[in-house]
Amino acid sequence: MADRREFIRKTSLGAAAALFVGRVWAADVPMLKETDPQAQGLGYKANAAEVDKVKFARYAAGQKCANCSLFQGKAGDAAGVCPLYAGKQVSANGWCSAYNKKVG
Ligand code: SF4
Repeated sequence: MADRREFIRKTSLGAAAALFVGRVWAADVPMLKETDPQAQGLGYKANAAEVDKVKFARYAAGQKCANCSLFQGKAGDAAGVCPLYAGKQVSANGWCSAYNKKVG
């Protein structure tokens, strides 16, 4: 019984520590700038409403990083990592021409 309690205590502490480290890590990752050369090449905008709809005709209203399959943030996060832009976070309300609708 004592072993079980100890296991639960250690597991809870480990989970809390992992959550904390994850939050700190996300907070330390800089935001992608629209002026970043790769961001410019893919037409990234931190606010999807500002996408150049003439240049990027494939953009459709409602598309944003938060519902893109590449977005690594959780539901409700204001920003999250996108693997296309190594070491940077993108805005949940952003968009770029590599957008791929999240399924499910
Ligand atoms: S690939 Fe998706 S998540 Fe990444 S910046 Fe473009 S729209 Fe946002």
